[in-house]
Amino acid sequence: MDLSKKILFAGDPHGNFRPLISAVKRFKPKAVVLLGDYDLDKPLEDLLHEIIGLTEIWWIAGNHDFETPDKHRFLFHSSLANNHLHLKVFDIAGIRIAGLSGIFLGRVWYPPKTPKWTAKNHFINSQHPHTRHNELPLKYQSAIWHDEFHEMAKLKADILVTHEAPGSHKYGFSVIGELALAMGVKHIFHGHLHENYKKIIKQNIQVVGVANSAIADLVGNTITTLNDTE
Ligand SMILES: [Zn+2]
Repeated sequence: MDLSKKILFAGDPHGNFRPLISAVKRFKPKAVVLLGDYDLDKPLEDLLHEIIGLTEIWWIAGNHDFETPDKHRFLFHSSLANNHLHLKVFDIAGIRIAGLSGIFLGRVWYPPKTPKWTAKNHFINSQHPHTRHNELPLKYQSAIWHDEFHEMAKLKADILVTHEAPGSHKYGFSVIGELALAMGVKHIFHGHLHENYKKIIKQNIQVVGVANSAIADLVGNTITTLNDTE
C-alpha cells in the first residue's frame, strides 16, 4: 500500500460525495477525514453507505452544517456522530489527528480581536432570563469559542484538521498556526476556501488547503478533483 494514501482528506463536499466515494474505492485508505460543509439533505451515513465498512470515516463540521436544523441533525445525529474530531485527538491509522470544527464569527470571536464572549455559558448567562435557552442558537454553535480553542492547545497531535484556514491563506487566521505549533503538529489540512494549495508556515508546519469536493493525500497531493467525476 502507498503510505501517502493511508489517510485521505476530503474538501467541502457541498452535497457531492462522488469524488470521495470513488477515491475510497480506488485507493482503499484506512481512514478518510472530511473537512466540513456537507449541505446534507439526508443522514450522512445514507450518502456514504457505499464506503461504510471499507474505511474509517472521521469528520469536522463547517459553517454550512449549522445553517438549518436539518443540515445540523443529518450530521450531528447521524450514525457517524461519534466520529466528530472537534476539540479531540484520535489515533487514526497510527497518526494522532486533532480537529477543530466551525469558523471565527464576529459576534463571538474574530481573532486577532478580543472575544465578545469568551465561553458559551458566558453568552447564555448574559441573555435575558425570559428569552434564555440552555441550547445555543445554531449560529453560535458554528463559532470557534475562545476558551475551547485555548484548552485545545494543551493537547498533542501530528495533524490538525480545521475548516478555517491558518495564516498561510490571505483569508486565514494566524492563531490556527499558533495552535498547531503549541500542539506539536506537523501538518494542517483545511477546507472552507475552495482552493487546493500547499504552503509551509513557521516551524516548518505544512499547510494543505483542500478545494471543494477535492481529495488530498497525506503528503498534500490532490488525487481527485471535482472535474474527474463530472
Ligand atoms: Zn465553509
